[in-house]
Amino acid sequence: MTDILAVAEHRRGELRDVSFELLTAGRELADSTGGDLHVAVIGGDVDAFADDLNREGVDRILTVGAGEEFNHDVYTQAIAALYDEVAPQVLLLPNTVNGLDSAPALAERLGLPYVPDAVELDLDGDELVATREMYGSKVATTNAVDAGDGVAVTVRDAEWPVTEGAGEAEIEAADVDIDESAVRSTVKGFEEVGAGDVDITEADLLVSIGRGIEEEENLELIEDLADTLGATMSASRPIIDNGWLPKGRQVGQSGKVVTPDVYLAIGISGAVQHVAGMKGAETIIAVNTDPNAPIFDLADYGIVGDLFEVVPELIEEFGE
Ligand code: FAD
Repeated sequence: MTDILAVAEHRRGELRDVSFELLTAGRELADSTGGDLHVAVIGGDVDAFADDLNREGVDRILTVGAGEEFNHDVYTQAIAALYDEVAPQVLLLPNTVNGLDSAPALAERLGLPYVPDAVELDLDGDELVATREMYGSKVATTNAVDAGDGVAVTVRDAEWPVTEGAGEAEIEAADVDIDESAVRSTVKGFEEVGAGDVDITEADLLVSIGRGIEEEENLELIEDLADTLGATMSASRPIIDNGWLPKGRQVGQSGKVVTPDVYLAIGISGAVQHVAGMKGAETIIAVNTDPNAPIFDLADYGIVGDLFEVVPELIEEFGE
């Protein structure tokens, strides 16, 4: 057992970024074992998905045409069948709602140990060492698991870089029969949380506001900045808890994980639970009156100043 099987995720017709992060995590593991990286994609436009997943370091892509969207019973059947065919040492899934739905069921069905929410992985022979964060990301734990007979792992999004380069994988339609009589649920439709609102995980430029804004009516200033920059607005949890912005705009451990090109954190202290959601941003810029605010430990650029003075200046500067 030296191969790795990673299961890509798609939603509403698009592969999610975490699928390309899985390729990086999977390739690293395959390099440790000297094995191949197989990538499975199940349901939806599998041929188009397979072309997109054909990136550097992928050896083989297995497609399973089965429905449009994630379905627990279809996925567990399909992945279990692919697992039997590939016999990988590590079965990798994203630590998303769908991954967390199918991975434990698969681990139970296949008799595998299960490691959820890994942020680092290291495979040495039969031992898989996974780093996981606990107590609201305040503590990192190192977990050694006997992976001699295989292991199922879900990986946290935005922890591994996306694999970019074009690949030369073999693409195969896998021979998987889904037993429809064992499919006990169907997707009847989608209702997005905060329907009509934007998806902050897709934004390239985020202007994020925290408790430093003080009052709801002051949010207009941040909206002006976001409009001037063509950016999307997001926020720390207190802004959401106050009901000033929809829940879908919350960045952090109990909100969304974002990976924009630029993350502008205004009046945000940089609590660990917030950082868990934005540390993967390419460039972080912070505006804060407190020079000792933890956000500055992470920021690429920082402005120590009062947002009520700094933001109007930024609007003026960028508006020109
Ligand atoms: P504060 O920590 O109050 O920081 C406000 C900052 O604004 C300060 O640094 C201050 O110096 C600065 N400031 C004040 N006035 C100005 C001004 N005029 N100009 C410029 N700067 C100014 N938080 C999240 O964000 N996302 C989560 O998903 C999340 N999940 C959590 C889950 C759990 C289980 C728990 C326990 C907590 C969670 N939190 C989360 C809350 C988190 O611990 C912090 O309380 C929160 O992130 C703080 O938000 P903040 O930085 O906006 O506010």
